[in-house]
Amino acid sequence: MRKRFDIHIHSNYSDGSDSVEEIVKYSKKIGLDGIAITDHDEVEGSLRAMEFNSENFRVIPGIEISSLDGHILGLGVEEVIDKGLSAIETVERIHKLGGIAIAAHPYDRIRQGVGDIIYKVDFDAVEIYNGHTISSTKSPGSIMDGLNIPAVCGSDAHCLDEIGIAVIKVKGDPIEAIRKGDVIIEEHIKKSRVLKNYLRKRMGRLF
Ligand SMILES: [Zn+2]
Ligand SMILES: [Zn+2]
Repeated sequence: MRKRFDIHIHSNYSDGSDSVEEIVKYSKKIGLDGIAITDHDEVEGSLRAMEFNSENFRVIPGIEISSLDGHILGLGVEEVIDKGLSAIETVERIHKLGGIAIAAHPYDRIRQGVGDIIYKVDFDAVEIYNGHTISSTKSPGSIMDGLNIPAVCGSDAHCLDEIGIAVIKVKGDPIEAIRKGDVIIEEHIKKSRVLKNYLRKRMGRLF
């Protein structure tokens, strides 16, 4: 049976509004099987969340790195990777630490994504749906056209309500499943529309 993971969540160790404890509690309450806390250029929250890792609730270590070329998620990474490095170097460092590199919101119109660099750098997956993206310059279908890596998604939650609006469904270990490309994407479009309206009203404050 496939299990459901939200692999892109921010805590109050970066610009999220909630504590790691609240995030874990809420994620369990809504029935997720695990999460990754991926704070901007920071692993403290992620490491703290690892204390809640258990048989029934898997916590994957992670970080969202502000590379020179755009945001990159490193899953399976337990230490800070310097920000401001090129995408190539950032991905290399993630791999050296045994993690997987995911291009976060690559074509987000507002926030920094790596864009066409996904076709040139050795990413393990690309986030084609991001719960926090209001508008993309490229559709998920055309992003995947000519790209031979798996598509994933994440809520990019910055508050509890957003957790779980975009999850991956995998069998077994989530990192291994992404490596193998055996990932199903589940997005709750209705809820994300609500979120988009909310963000439009508050744009500026939440980015
Ligand atoms: Zn980002
Ligand atoms: Zn993010």
